[in-house]
Formats: sequence, C-alpha cells, structure tokens
Amino acid sequence: MTKRCVVLLSGGLDSMLAVRIMQEQGIEVEALNFKTVFTCCQDQSAQKARDLGVRLTVVGQEDDYLDLVKEPRFGRGKGANPCVDCRIYMFEKAKRFMHQIGADFIVSGEVAGQRPMSQKRRDLDRIAYHSDLDDLLLRPLSAKLLRPTLPEREGWVDREKLYNIEGRSRKRLIALAKKYGLQEIPTPSTGCSLTEPKFSKKVFDLIDAPGESRRWDFELLKTGRHFRFDTQTKVVLGRDAAENDQLLHAHQLADANSTATMSPENFVGPLALVIGPRTDEAVEFAAGLILRYSRDYDAGNALVRVDGQIINASTTELARTLGTIATT
Ligand code: SF4
Repeated sequence: MTKRCVVLLSGGLDSMLAVRIMQEQGIEVEALNFKTVFTCCQDQSAQKARDLGVRLTVVGQEDDYLDLVKEPRFGRGKGANPCVDCRIYMFEKAKRFMHQIGADFIVSGEVAGQRPMSQKRRDLDRIAYHSDLDDLLLRPLSAKLLRPTLPEREGWVDREKLYNIEGRSRKRLIALAKKYGLQEIPTPSTGCSLTEPKFSKKVFDLIDAPGESRRWDFELLKTGRHFRFDTQTKVVLGRDAAENDQLLHAHQLADANSTATMSPENFVGPLALVIGPRTDEAVEFAAGLILRYSRDYDAGNALVRVDGQIINASTTELARTLGTIATT
C-alpha cells in the first residue's frame, strides 16, 4: 500500500527538496505550512506547493506559542528566536495533523549543522524526542548521518536513496535542485522576524515590561515606530498612511491594549497609539513624538486630537520629552 507522509513546507529550498525526494520514492505527500505571528512566507509556500503538485494545509499558532517566545526552554538564537522550542511546537502540530489525515510519518528538510540554533545534531535529536515523534520524523537530506527511522527500517523509504548532507554550504542542495528539476531556487531566508536584530529588540522590550503581554501586543510589533515612555507605557507611531490605518484598526479591536489614539488636527503627520496608562505625561510624550515626525506645522499652534479632545501640542514640554526617547 502506498505510504503517505506530511512534509513541513516552508517554501525554502530544503523543504522543496524533501518533497521531491519523497515523491521520487513513490510516497504520497501532504504539505503542511506553519504560520506564526512572526512569519511571513505563506504565500511563497502556497506557490511552491502548486509547483510541486502537492496539497498544502496552513496551520496557525495558538496563544501558547507566545509562552515559548517569552520563556523558551532551550534558549534562543542570535535574536529573539526560540528555534528549538519552536520546532518542537511545529512538529507537535504536524503529528496531530498526521493522525487526523491518516498519514504514516513526518518529513522535514532540516540539514544537520546548517543552522547554529536548531540544526546541530544534538538539537535534531532533541526536537524529535520532545515532539514525541522520534522514530517517525525523517530528514531525508541528512538521513544517512542520523539513526535510521521507522520508515527506513520498515522499507517504506529506501535509505540508500537518501542523503548525507551536512553544514551550511548550499552547493549540494543546489545540485540536487537541478537534479530534481526545480526551476526557481529560493534564496535562503528564515522568513521569521524573530531572527531580525531590530525586531528582536522590540520583542525583548515587550517581554521585559511588567504585566502580561498578549497576542495583540505581539501583532502590533510589526507596525510602526515603538517608543517606550516608562515601564508600563509606550507609544507607537505609524510610518506612513497604511500604517496609520493599521494602528487605528488595531486600536478598535476588542482585545486592544491601547488607551488612546492621537493624530494631527491641522497638519500632516503620523497617528499615534498610547499603550498603557493614559496619563497627561504619556499624552505629552506622544504629542512630542508626533511633532518630531511631522513637517510643516505651525510651531505655535500645532493641534493634536486625542480621541475626542484637541490639545495644542506646541505647549507640551517637547524638549524634555524628546530628551527621554528610547526607540525600540
Ligand atoms: S526561525 Fe522562527 S519560525 Fe523558524 S524555527 Fe526559528 S523561531 Fe521558529
């Protein structure tokens, strides 16, 4: 009987090769893409699934994912990325999906030693063990360097036709892409903003702030310029009209943590959200920021709307405010 596997398809070269290697062995492939608040390459995976001729299911994170971002059990990479915990989480989801659709095993395009944070051999073992997949998780690109898994031992997959690729070089992967007729070779990218230093700074700022940060707070990190006013309060400014709209939309959501919206009344400039206690000092701070990122306003009569109320931002203690700005 034809065996069926679930391949984790990020849309990157490694996962595309994993699909092709399974197809070459006559295994039926179901692709699964994992989407988090921080990932951005779902569209790419949809296109790649079409190119590869496989059905794609996209699953999202649940709120417990944020717990591991806040406090990873196995540490982080260079940024805020908790890759080992994240992979364990993904594979747990994949395992559930495998059972739901009656597939036989899971396949991943991980390459031993390719990524410092999650693909050292010890990490690969750890991920397989803690996701409770162990024997059912096949990494065809590095399989010959790893313990034979159940699909290999049972002969569902021919281990001889798998690979022993290790390390960061893409040379052998690109050669394989040619062998398997992949037309477009994606450039390497995690597609995950948790690996970006600037974004990570915002994540750490949020995690370190007192109180419980929720999904809304993490979603908001993707939009605008973030400024911390004090431990409990920050201000977010849109960088353009689209971001101003996004911030306004975020403010109107039922689970919003923002306490005020502020926007220029008689000049052109950014919209601001105040997150945390809406004190006079926080409003002054935000008004100062709006002026800082605006041009062509009357320095003696710059009006800012704070929800229903209009204040004259020219009278805020702008110099003091700008002196304390901490950009995140
Ligand atoms: S780069 Fe991001 S999505 Fe990928 S494993 Fe690490 S934390 Fe997870």
